[in-house]
Amino acid sequence: MTSLPAATTAPTATPTPRPAFGTVLARRMGVVRFENGRWGEPSVEATAPLTLSPAAHVLHYSSTCFEGLKAYRWADGSLNVFRLDKHIARMRQSARHLVLPEPDPALLDGLIRAVVRAVADEVPEAPGALYLRPLLMGTMPNIGAAATPSDEATLLVLASPVWDYFSGGMKPLRIFVDDKNSRTASHLGMVKTGGNYAAAMMPTLEARTRHRADQVLFCPGGTVQETGAANFLLLQKERILTRSLDPSFLHGVTRASLLALARDLGYAVEERPFTVAEMLRWAEHGEAALSGTAAVLTGVGTLIHENREYPVAGGNVGPETLRLRAALVAVQRGEAPDRHGWLTRA
Ligand SMILES: *Cc1c(COP(=O)(O)O)cnc(C)c1O
Repeated sequence: MTSLPAATTAPTATPTPRPAFGTVLARRMGVVRFENGRWGEPSVEATAPLTLSPAAHVLHYSSTCFEGLKAYRWADGSLNVFRLDKHIARMRQSARHLVLPEPDPALLDGLIRAVVRAVADEVPEAPGALYLRPLLMGTMPNIGAAATPSDEATLLVLASPVWDYFSGGMKPLRIFVDDKNSRTASHLGMVKTGGNYAAAMMPTLEARTRHRADQVLFCPGGTVQETGAANFLLLQKERILTRSLDPSFLHGVTRASLLALARDLGYAVEERPFTVAEMLRWAEHGEAALSGTAAVLTGVGTLIHENREYPVAGGNVGPETLRLRAALVAVQRGEAPDRHGWLTRA
């Protein structure tokens, strides 16, 4: 890896249209290395290309995991990270499943907050935010280590200013329902690791060309799981149905937060496995949506299954989807009380 993606530093002017999500990196990043059985001193450095052995474990055996979380600039000027502890716990869980060194919670917490403070002047106003991308990778230089874990690792914390995801309005998604392929190996579904996205790439691109689909909803064995990078929810007036947690899919922090808020608002929340057939019946009268940190909650307008198209919520983004999205966004931006203690001042 000789260069970072085609990313530039944040523009100081405010041109429109804004750069696409993830294409701009802040000027500084967090770095800490694991060597000789222990973590070194973390530092915040200029965002720059990495020096990595071409034999680095990650390049050959995909020993890597990441997180995605956001810090928000509130009206009072403070910077607040949403559900920092949950993301730290999930990153440690991913590292454990990949047999990578697990960063201590205090190390991750300190480094992420130090990065937010270091790039404070690059954090856009709401509805923009600072997207944070902690990345852990095995750097042991050994191309004969297919069955040996990496005993060296690098942890980076990248920061990326992001602007309104829906500046052009929220377009209802077209979702291809795939009841044959799996998104990933079942024991890695709950691990946020690069290989999972590589596995979902080809089916997603095929669905894009064949069905003009935005995403694939993976439903191996006919039970609904999730899309390539977001959780899936069914909604109706004061009712939500979503798959119960198991190791086969990613346990979204947005999902958990939306369900908690929905319960606060009096929704009946059902978490259990459900089939494609049940989902298609629900779609006749209800709504469907995808949840994740980047877009929070996005409405599904069409489900595509076996060459038939099923409109959802009349092909629009439904009222329950908009209501829950607004409720969560208000907490994230400090516009509604943080009853669950989800925000941490950087
Ligand atoms: C990151 C991710 C999600 C969403 O998780 P959040 O914590 O809500 O951002 C869902 N599914 C997959 C596969 C993911 O990688």
